[in-house]
Amino acid sequence: MTAEGTDLVRTPSHRLVILGRQGAGKGTQCERLSHHYGIPHISTGDMLRSAVAAGTELGRRAKAIMEAGDLVPDSLMQEIVAERLSQPDAAQGFLLDGFPRTEAQAQFLDDYLAPRALDLVINIEVPDEVVIARMLARGRADDTEEAICRRLELYEKETAPLIHFYRDKGILVSVDGYGSPDEVEQRLIEVIDSHVS
Ligand code: ADP
Repeated sequence: MTAEGTDLVRTPSHRLVILGRQGAGKGTQCERLSHHYGIPHISTGDMLRSAVAAGTELGRRAKAIMEAGDLVPDSLMQEIVAERLSQPDAAQGFLLDGFPRTEAQAQFLDDYLAPRALDLVINIEVPDEVVIARMLARGRADDTEEAICRRLELYEKETAPLIHFYRDKGILVSVDGYGSPDEVEQRLIEVIDSHVS
């Protein structure tokens, strides 16, 4: 097959970021989308929780920060994400969940990916009362009411501005996160397929 022929059958690249407040259903939907598109689900929250469970140096540094609902320092997060994105399974695409969470992280990601770029950033939107009910229901160890409030507050302050950052780049789409997991998944797939080619 010629180089051009190879190009024609190339599968679309899916370098995706999922934004959404805690409890928006990001984790559940990322698992499904990862399976659907055959790309890794990279959840910084899951990576940090595994590090805490394994008692690694990173875990020891992150534990108290996570329990308080605060943010782990950008430099540390950037190092972890760069290492993960450099692995071969992320070469054709990935779903980032929980990163970037600050404008500095978003800028870092752009620089890291250059000359390539993200294909799409999806913002899953859900109303306040749904978010709080879902978070209390899942009962994770770091889901105390105080930590939940702190994380929602930090989301508004640090992460919500990323919506503007990506909107300005013309790669942001919003999806309604209300409904059953199947309904939301269908909506996400339609949006991704219509934007990513
Ligand atoms: P949630 O889904 O509850 O928002 P995550 O599972 O994504 O939370 O992350 C859990 C915790 O891990 C966060 O509250 C924060 O302390 C830390 N964390 C995860 N990702 C990042 C990041 N990109 N920057 C800073 N801290 C992070």
